Amino acid sequence: MKEELKATGPEVSHAQSYKGRLNIYVCDECHGHIVTVDKDDGVTPFMIGCEAKGCKAIMKSSFYRVFDQSMAPTHEWYRPTEPEIATLQRGAADHVRQGGLMLRRCDGAPMKHPLTRR
Ligand SMILES: [Zn+2]
Repeated sequence: MKEELKATGPEVSHAQSYKGRLNIYVCDECHGHIVTVDKDDGVTPFMIGCEAKGCKAIMKSSFYRVFDQSMAPTHEWYRPTEPEIATLQRGAADHVRQGGLMLRRCDGAPMKHPLTRR
C-alpha cells in the first residue's frame, strides 16, 4: 500500500477535537480496561501500557466508540502547564509540545505508567 504524504505544515493531528469525549482502552492480555475522558484538546496515543496490576501488556484505544457516554471515567487526558512540562522527561515533554496529552487517574492515585507512551 502506498500513501502519498502531503505537506500540511507542522500541525497535522488537530483535525478533530475529542474534548469532553469518553474513550475506553482495553488490554488484550488481561481484558482489563480503563475509561478515559479528554479534558483538553490534543492528541492521545493509540496504545498505552496496561494499568492492571501485574500485567505487562498493552491497552488499545477504542477510538472513542463509546456507546454509553454516561459512564464515569477512571482516567483523564490533560494538557500539563508549562511548569509541569519542565519537570517531565524529554520524551514526554516532546510529546506534549507536539500536541500530546498526558494521562492521570481521576482519583489522584499514582499511575502505574505515569507518562504516556509512544
Ligand atoms: Zn493487561
